[in-house]
Amino acid sequence: MTTSVPTITLNNGARIPQLGFGVFQVPDAETTEAVTSALDAGYRSIDTAAIYANEVGVGKALAASDIERGELFITTKLWNADQGYDATLTAFDASLAKLGLEYIDLYLIHWPTPARDLYRESWKAIEKLVSDGLVRTAGVSNFQPAHLRRLLESASLVPAVNQIELHPGLQQNELRALHAELGIATEAWSPLAQGAVLGDDAITSIAAHHGKSPAQVVLRWHLQLGNIVIPKSVTPTRIGENIDVFGFALTDDEMAAIAALDRGLRTGPDPDTLN
Ligand code: NDP
Repeated sequence: MTTSVPTITLNNGARIPQLGFGVFQVPDAETTEAVTSALDAGYRSIDTAAIYANEVGVGKALAASDIERGELFITTKLWNADQGYDATLTAFDASLAKLGLEYIDLYLIHWPTPARDLYRESWKAIEKLVSDGLVRTAGVSNFQPAHLRRLLESASLVPAVNQIELHPGLQQNELRALHAELGIATEAWSPLAQGAVLGDDAITSIAAHHGKSPAQVVLRWHLQLGNIVIPKSVTPTRIGENIDVFGFALTDDEMAAIAALDRGLRTGPDPDTLN
């Protein structure tokens, strides 16, 4: 099955599929099968990270696929312990080798870890990787407004993406507005809140009305807001369901009903205090 996923044009002109596949918490040995299912279902963007310890599994699925490299969009992330100029370059080489690739489409600083204050040096290293052609697009993850502003004081490149926790329980309106002002695309991690919002009444009733699943409604909400999403599943039926979200639309009233679910629900760490 081939599903056509729209792309978002980033601030460097690169295009990222608006919907991709996340592999957080998937053991390396199961990752190849999950990514292969996702590629078969039509996903072309895969989101991993050094700390997920499954870059090898992702790489095996890519190597076994006959999809051309240029049609794939692969993201990985610099782990916190590897921040700093030289350490970033070394960690990047390790990720590239594990994935078995010649370049990475999107390389992210995974967390700002503000107390360590190394993200500006790490960014300089990523800028070098961009100029060397090894990273096509540079971005960050879990950056709060203060971290973005501090980074931009010394950056040559504006991050193309900030990948942040974002779902109906944590809508991140302040960051989304800042991203729009700075030309940074918003990428939503845990777009389904790891399931924590799928039982909300507003979502289940909208789902029933459209004959869709709660997860499909939540993903549709993200897409209509302009977010990039990377839902994770190891379940083939859900992998298929999560990409089958381009044949219906939520009304303005339905978007408003979901907007009312914003409640400061963090399922992951707070970026201001994770160090
Ligand atoms: P998600 O919000 O994508 O939720 C994943 C969970 O929801 C899994 O338990 C999955 O179960 C279940 N699920 C998936 N689809 C459905 C469905 N259609 N119906 C019901 N349940 C469903 O959580 P993640 O935390 O995995 O976030 C997605 C991706 O974001 C990660 O995989 C990772 O790539 C990225 N991420 C980035 C972070 C960062 O710091 N930058 C932090 C966290 C995540 P099952 O697999 O059993 O089917």
